[in-house]
Amino acid sequence: MSILKSEAIVLYSQRQGETSKRLQLYSKEYGKLGVIVKGSQSIKARHWGSLETLSYIEAVFYYKSGRPLHYIKQASIIHAFPSLHSELGKWALAAIPLEIVNRTQEPEDSNSYLFDLLLKTLCTLEKNEKGLKNIIRAFELHMVSDAGFKPSLTRCDHCSNETEALYWHFLIKRGVLRCSQCGTLERESLKISTDARKALNWLMAVSIPDSPTVLLPGKLGKEIDHILYAFLEAHLESMNNLKSVRALEAMQKNLQQNQNSR
Ligand SMILES: [Zn+2]
Repeated sequence: MSILKSEAIVLYSQRQGETSKRLQLYSKEYGKLGVIVKGSQSIKARHWGSLETLSYIEAVFYYKSGRPLHYIKQASIIHAFPSLHSELGKWALAAIPLEIVNRTQEPEDSNSYLFDLLLKTLCTLEKNEKGLKNIIRAFELHMVSDAGFKPSLTRCDHCSNETEALYWHFLIKRGVLRCSQCGTLERESLKISTDARKALNWLMAVSIPDSPTVLLPGKLGKEIDHILYAFLEAHLESMNNLKSVRALEAMQKNLQQNQNSR
């Protein structure tokens, strides 16, 4: 058994009995790890209480190779993200990158780029009040690009045409475009407007902290989300039917209905 130390983000936290918690961590050094926290003296009471989903912590843990769960020796909170906890809309959005990391990452497969990306995403959500969905979209595009599936959205894959048209075809499986003249016989292609193509290119290039600076109109945002999730599901099997995305959609539908009934 060895004693290891790493920064980590709590992907989820579950109580176990009266005095223990089970955490799923995404750690900078060791990737995804399941750990047990006992409410013992080594964890100060105030820290034990705040070892919740979303917390950014420094953890020292007893590690034994081949075990699915390890034991926390000490933990301290680096940042608890209070506004993500207190604002329902932000909480619902923050749940999406947490679920994506939990679903797509294998245990103990470290990726410090993805760790930093997740941390920047949560920090940017915490600090901003507008353009929040762009932060999640930029996270998703940066993450899928890092996984080796960066879409190519600058020119027609067949004739190299770059001139603007009303719409393009996006070949989801191949991650490339066809212009409207070349068309496509592939079943798994989606029509994509020129505005959506530009916005997706911008979101791929922008840094996470700058991603909320441009507000996209609602209709364009919906088009982008539709294309983006179809693309993510086609390339990362574990992305199918994300609970956090369904929960956000249900919340938005409820809000809309409440506003309409006023
Ligand atoms: Zn073409």
